[in-house]
Amino acid sequence: MKRIAVVCGLLAGIAAGVHAQMPVGATGSTTLAPLRVDPAVKSALGGVSAEQVQADIAKLVSFGTRSTLSSMDTELPQGQGILPAADWITSEFEAISKECGGCLEVKRDEFVQPASTDPRARVTRPTKLVNVYAILHGTGGDKAPWVLVTGHYDSRATDVMDGKLTSPGANDDASGVAVSLESARAMAWLTKAGVKLPGTMVFAAVAGEEQGLFGSAHLAKLAKSEGWPLKAVLNNDIVGGDTTPGETGQYKDVVRVFSESIPATATPGEQRMTLGLGAENDSPSRELARQIVELAPAYFKPATERPAALKGGMRSQLIRLVPPFHPVMILRRDRYLRGGDHTSFNAEGFPAVRFTEWRENFDHQHQTLRTENGVVYGDLLKFVDFAYVAKVAQLNALTMASLAAAPSEPQHVRVVTKELDNYSNLQWDASAFAPQGTTYEVVWRDTNENLWTHSQSAGAETHLTLDVSKDNVLFGVRAVSAAGDRSLAVPPVPERK
Ligand SMILES: [Zn+2]
Repeated sequence: MKRIAVVCGLLAGIAAGVHAQMPVGATGSTTLAPLRVDPAVKSALGGVSAEQVQADIAKLVSFGTRSTLSSMDTELPQGQGILPAADWITSEFEAISKECGGCLEVKRDEFVQPASTDPRARVTRPTKLVNVYAILHGTGGDKAPWVLVTGHYDSRATDVMDGKLTSPGANDDASGVAVSLESARAMAWLTKAGVKLPGTMVFAAVAGEEQGLFGSAHLAKLAKSEGWPLKAVLNNDIVGGDTTPGETGQYKDVVRVFSESIPATATPGEQRMTLGLGAENDSPSRELARQIVELAPAYFKPATERPAALKGGMRSQLIRLVPPFHPVMILRRDRYLRGGDHTSFNAEGFPAVRFTEWRENFDHQHQTLRTENGVVYGDLLKFVDFAYVAKVAQLNALTMASLAAAPSEPQHVRVVTKELDNYSNLQWDASAFAPQGTTYEVVWRDTNENLWTHSQSAGAETHLTLDVSKDNVLFGVRAVSAAGDRSLAVPPVPERK
């Protein structure tokens, strides 16, 4: 999946004519500049290893079952079941924190999910759930952005109500938990190296996904009640890059990024406006997915761009060996017949996306271990591609680091529509978190494009007039740090003055 490099001639011609009355500070090319990833962050990402991912997933598999229902089972052998898994994840975050001088605040969100009498209920007696999460506090104060990565550590057999059967859940979703752990390790390494970002990062592993997204729902409500200013929730679920002998349809250089269109929390009025503007593809979650696609090339270089000579220490060598990798936006909330933890965060009004491997093998998820007619069923360790998971972890961590280094998004973004004209007069209010040197840029694209193709800096101003017809393009406004890290884009709403 190529990034958009070709701009239609018509728009390129229009875009060249920035309005003569554009404000002071509106300078530079309108061609979209590639996004950057801080060199220090690249070094940190170089430490993400397939071996560590393998160790994480193997450890999670070793608990026999991680069925959420096993938390109430008093007959399981010592050390088996979901609660020992929760304890291990907690101890692992604590070990990571120890390495960086206590940089992580490790917490447990424990609660009892009440029994339900609904015939389709997957929790039929009060059941203990534990979410584990670690917070890497930023230096930017309470207005700086927060970002969160999560995977679910519970697993299941074919019968989701059987909490005793062996359920390795290696891909679904020990792989996602490994992404959280590896992201935490990379960012802890960055902290230890002396790089402290203004934004706060949360690394989570939740329970109860297979029983009905209960863990993530509880954590999302906690985030909302505590006022976490979450700008991005990255849910990794089935990111193991299923490796099955004979499988030819699995593309190991891509990962899907699912996102909702019209937000789950949009009011009827907001829904009507979104439809009227044709802004269905510009929800906050979509802008997050779009930014992930835009960020990836800053780290994952095409093979031909790799320098021939390796120099520097081990980490810089690893950086230069990173193979091509592409996130691909899937313009829907989730796959057919399936849901995921990102929707719990969407339900609380947070931008959230889901990462999932390109092609799932349904013999190797939600299946009781068995062999039938020569076909092996079950979510086994041997079907996981650890190097693939490591790449997904790098993509998550670089997204988190980029957004945690950026200002918060511009506020109250609007396009003035006082009269019928062919200009676009965009205005906005400064970001709530706008450190020294913050500037703003307007980005835009044809309505039938999916990724931004053009940008124009407004400098430190909070308005920009462009000789581009608002009827023909989709706009967004981003805040840019002095170093060049971008907030998510915010599409304008019409304002009649
Ligand atoms: Zn899952």
